[in-house]
Amino acid sequence: MKKKILVANRGEIAIRLIRAIQELGFDAVAVYETPDEMSRHIRIADEAVLLGDGPRCDYLNIEKIVAAAKKSGACAIHPGYGFLAENPFFAKACEETDLIFIGPNSKIISDLGNKVIARQIMADAGIPMVPGSQNLKQGREGITEALEFAATYGYPIMLKATSGGGGRGIRRIETDEEMVEQIPVARSEALAAFNDDSVYLEKVVINPKHVEVQILADSFGNTVHLGTRDCSIQRRNQKLIEIAPSMIKNQPLLDEICDTAVKAAKASNYLNAGTVEFLIDKDQNYYFMEINTRVQVEHTVTEMITGIDIVRNQINIAFGKPLSFTQDNVNVRGHAIEVRINAEDPKNDFMPEGEKKVSVYRSTGGFGVRLDGFVYQGYIIPEVYDSLLVKLTVHGFTWDETVGRLKRCLQNFAIRGPKTTIPFYENIAREKDFVNGDFDTSFIETHPHIFLYDEDASEVGKLARFIAEIHYRRENPFAK
Ligand code: ADP
Ligand code: ADP
Ligand code: MG
Repeated sequence: MKKKILVANRGEIAIRLIRAIQELGFDAVAVYETPDEMSRHIRIADEAVLLGDGPRCDYLNIEKIVAAAKKSGACAIHPGYGFLAENPFFAKACEETDLIFIGPNSKIISDLGNKVIARQIMADAGIPMVPGSQNLKQGREGITEALEFAATYGYPIMLKATSGGGGRGIRRIETDEEMVEQIPVARSEALAAFNDDSVYLEKVVINPKHVEVQILADSFGNTVHLGTRDCSIQRRNQKLIEIAPSMIKNQPLLDEICDTAVKAAKASNYLNAGTVEFLIDKDQNYYFMEINTRVQVEHTVTEMITGIDIVRNQINIAFGKPLSFTQDNVNVRGHAIEVRINAEDPKNDFMPEGEKKVSVYRSTGGFGVRLDGFVYQGYIIPEVYDSLLVKLTVHGFTWDETVGRLKRCLQNFAIRGPKTTIPFYENIAREKDFVNGDFDTSFIETHPHIFLYDEDASEVGKLARFIAEIHYRRENPFAK
């Protein structure tokens, strides 16, 4: 009988993981909650286990998922990203029941998931970082500490949840009054979101570039990097578009950042795939920000430029195999861009579209194009999960070719029902600064005209409306 691996996730990443699992010759076990009954990850898996009605709580239920793995006879669990991926108790539960957790061990996840501990490990290893505080003390004392920090380093200052993630739990503070007011708010939000009310401060890097390095580390002491990604195009500190490699025209600097990332991984005894995130300021100083101990949403761009399957390597490493290549074998070829096509309305502050039926889904294809999605025509988007529908990743030999391919693909892509980020990305792809590879985390706010578009104006838009009309007629033959 084939060995089985359970996928403790949903959406596009569940499908991405199932593909790698099946390609390696394992059977894939999917899990799902009732609102996800229509999801394609259930169909392509070799078997699927209903966890419960959710929503969300069953995907976060360690006991239920471990029980599902045991019952189905799986020998390993892949957590994907989000949900339990960075929960050290989940990794620990796997360790205690002889299930292979496909990721680092619980100690590494727990240390690096705490931004203050992670900073301490990196400071001890001599990795550059922005000035920051320890966890602020509770009550008045913590506020006094914060005001002293502000007096030393000056505003603006980031107030960050120590256990935060996914762009949440980060606040930019401009004045003492705001600091006093926001600390308790930040604490209660952090407690609700991350079950930990610790907060700390970091000096703000003004309009930085977000550059990160993909790491793979096996259990034989081999740690390699797969080059850089630029994830500066963000809204609310969350990534929308990611690019590999970074467009910074200073190769020695990028090489140094990659070497520093390997050093950071080694300093934390890192194991499996991880991402070391940095901020880079106008003067090209770079600062460690955090390590994500999981597969990243944007891992696809790195796969495209290196030809290395990151998820396949995650599985092999977790099963105790050595990396099959060395740093010298890692060659970066060309450029890749990923856009996260979300069911959101950019014009309405990127509000998720809620429960909507995908009335038209016509994807793109062709040379250098990769799609990681899970929805289809007729699919009803459950409003209880995140808004990511499909990731479009394009690869080209030159940057110009890659941008041209992105534009062409976005024009061909038709999704109707929910509003999506597609027309917004079409505008970005036409923007001069984007085309020149010149952007930092302020890109969206400094280019307000990218919000000016008409969803239905394009040729594809008209065609999509026409197709939607035909479908409607077919399903409702007696409609007027
Ligand atoms: P990336 O993998 O590119 O860093 P994000 O930072 O947007 O992407 O996070 C990936 C996914 O994981 C998102 O769905 C996000 O909401 C979720 N996520 C990340 N960290 C946490 C966390 N600590 N708690 C809950 N969800 C998280
Ligand atoms: P998360 O765990 O949610 O991904 P990060 O610490 O990685 O949080 O920060 C997410 C984003 O917030 C960064 O990509 C950057 O845009 C912004 N950010 C975080 N810390 C700082 C800082 N000290 N200065 C400027 N921007 C920051
Ligand atoms: Mg981050």
